[in-house]
Formats: sequence, C-alpha cells, structure tokens
Amino acid sequence: MKQSQLFTKTRREAPADEVSKNAILLTRAGFINKELAGVYSLLPLGLRVVDKIKKIVSEEMEALGSVEFLMSTLQNKEIWEKTGRWSDEKVDVWFKSTLKSGSEVGFGWSHEEPITNLMTSHIASYHDLPVYVHQFQNKLRNEVRAKAGILRGREFLMKDMYSFARNEEEHMAFYNKATEAYLNVFRKVGLGDITYVTSASGGFFTDKFSHEFQTLCEAGEDTIYITDENGKVAVNGEVEKKGDPKKAVEVGNIFTFGTEKCEQMGLYFNDEKGNKTPVYLGSYGIGITRLMGVLAEVFGDDKGLVWPEAVAPFKVHLLSLSENSKKLADEAYEKLQAAGVEVLYDDRDARAGEKFADADLIGIPTRVVVGEKALASGMLEVKSRASGETRELPLKELINELA
Ligand code: ATP
Ligand code: MG
Repeated sequence: MKQSQLFTKTRREAPADEVSKNAILLTRAGFINKELAGVYSLLPLGLRVVDKIKKIVSEEMEALGSVEFLMSTLQNKEIWEKTGRWSDEKVDVWFKSTLKSGSEVGFGWSHEEPITNLMTSHIASYHDLPVYVHQFQNKLRNEVRAKAGILRGREFLMKDMYSFARNEEEHMAFYNKATEAYLNVFRKVGLGDITYVTSASGGFFTDKFSHEFQTLCEAGEDTIYITDENGKVAVNGEVEKKGDPKKAVEVGNIFTFGTEKCEQMGLYFNDEKGNKTPVYLGSYGIGITRLMGVLAEVFGDDKGLVWPEAVAPFKVHLLSLSENSKKLADEAYEKLQAAGVEVLYDDRDARAGEKFADADLIGIPTRVVVGEKALASGMLEVKSRASGETRELPLKELINELA
C-alpha cells in the first residue's frame, strides 16, 4: 500500500484526553480513533493488526474442530431472564434499549444464553454432540471505568467460543485442548514468554472449572503471583499468596458452566439409553482488540509502536527519501509486492526526518530506506525496528530474505 493513499495521519502530540500508553501510541500512529470514552474505531492500520490476530486465533480454533458463526448484537430479554442474568444487579455492564413496540432488548455483552438457546433447535440426541462454535463479535459493555484505552472498551472485539458436550469427561478433554490452543495463540502473537495460565485457587491441575490467561503488563488491573515460571502457571491476586506480585492483563478466559445453564435454558439431549440429559457447557473468550492494546503496551518504546512480525500491519516500511531516488524506490516497491511481501511505501512528498519519525511511530518490523546512497551504491539501508540493527543489502538479497 502507498502511504499517500492512507488517509490516516500521524500526530506528534499525545491526544489531550488519553492517559494510557496504548491509546496514546495507537492514536498518534493512526491505528485507532476515539469516538467517545471507551469507544474506538479501527483505522486501516489498526484493522490490519486486528485481522492478523483474528487469523491466528481462527487457525487455532478451527484446529480444535470449532466452526465459525456470528450471532446478533441485539438480544432477547426473555432468554436472559431464564437464567436470571437480565438483572442489572447480576450483570452490571448491560446496555439496554426499548423497541418502538415498548419491549426491551439488550446489547450483547456476552452470548452464553443466546447460543445455548439457539442450540435447543440443533441438539436433540447424543448423535448431535459434541458441538464447538466460535465467533468474532463486537461486545457492548457499560464499563464503569474506561481509562485504559482499548484494554477496556465499552465496545470491543471478542472471540468467543462455546463447547457443548455430552458429559464432564468429554467437556474436560476439550477444555484441556482449548487451554493449549490459547497458549499457542498468545505465543504466536509474540506474548508467549509473559503470558500465564492462572486460576483463583491454586495450580492449573487442581482447579478445573475456570482459568484466565494473564499477560504481564504494567498497565494491568490484575495482580498475579507466578507459581511455575517454566510451566507458565500463576495464581491471581484475589487471595493472599506467597511470592512477588506482578501486574497483568487478562487476555483470555475459559470457563466451565457444567449443566446448570443448559438446565435453565432447556437444552437437553437423549443419551444412548434414551434418557433426557442436560448438555455440558463451556465458554472460552479472547479479547482481540485488548490484545492489540497489550502489544502496544508491552512492546511500545519512547519512539512509538513495535509490532511482532506475526501481527504487524505490514512486514516492510519502504521509505523514498528524495525526488532523485523515487524511481528506484518505485521499482523496489513493485518487486517486493510481486514477491508477496507486505509493504507500506512512504511515497509522500515529505521531509526525510518526518518519514523516519513516522516509521518509528508506526512500528513496522523492517524499515528499508531508498535515498541518495542507494542511487550511488545500489545498496538499500535495512533497519530492524525492534533491535535498531542496520544493514546494507542489494534489493535482490532483501527480497530473497523476506519472500
Ligand atoms: P475483565 O475482568 O477484564 O473485566 P471479564 O472477566 O469481564 O474481563 P470475559 O467476560 O471473560 O472478561 O471476556 C473474555 C475476554 O474479553 C477477556 O478475557 C478480555 O480479554 C476481553 N475483555 C473483557 N472485557 C473487555 C473490555 N471491556 N474491553 C476489551 N476487552 C475486554
Ligand atoms: Mg469485565
């Protein structure tokens, strides 16, 4: 993509109304736009990062045998009343509205009740089970505090998966596989070293009902205590624990509901012996936009964002520095693109200093400079955003390396 076609502009100054590092950097670099407190639009660069994260998550969920679907945002009050969760006392983040007819509707903050209800028309016998489904859905939550940028949005993108199993054994087999898949996701997006499986009451193997995935991060609202550094296991700070407290952000959550919700919602199946049996439910969330915020928090430096390769909006940021070198830069752009390398080409009529500062701010892993030096020697200056290491390479070698 040519940067001249990107309508988004970088900003030198931090937006006056933002306090969190992720919102400041992502706004300055043109990845997000604040609409109102806790509500952000994704601009082209931000959308590309979100799409990369989604792709990694999709692959892992599909490998588990889950199929993608998409539920509605407007939700039926009666369905939530069946489990008592329509109540604002029980669920303190509801956004609700009223139809012209006078009946109330809710905005989806979660989909456990609607998906369980939906399954009553698809699951009838043991032949129909197990079922695994997931979606990428914008959740709406009336969060009290919304000062953490996209770490805590009032509208945010979540991946939610649901498992419907015949019994606890079948459920736990999937739950354990899902735990591994989640760790794969966090490793693939570049957070493997600092992400822990946590539980409230102890080690992973003693508490099988619910686990969180917590990424170490100064901006985190949670406190965890690491119990096994190699096994990436920790406990969260709800109870006094031994060891050093660490700030962390919950990037994912997996939860066993057992059969209770299905009993409340009327989701039963006929087992092999013809007995009417309630379905065993599990729920598995990952905060997709929150993950983008965590990556900005964890890797961002004093110059701007620093994206891990796997989720970077582009692999290469190509900078054309002068009018004279434009032809050579155009050629490099075309050849890189033809080789399948994702390139953002700064073809703008701007000063070199501005282009360098913008490249640092946007944080694409590899910066390639085409200027007077390249004209004279045919060598391109190639710099790593993460390490700052600079090398000189002919275009052909660069393409071989990246393609
Ligand atoms: P938290 O304790 O941070 O409020 P939660 O327990 O409410 O999270 P879940 O309902 O389990 O979260 O949602 C699944 C995932 O969605 C969370 O693990 C988190 O990554 C993400 N998430 C939850 N709330 C928000 C939010 N307001 N903004 C962005 N992401 C969120
Ligand atoms: Mg919450």
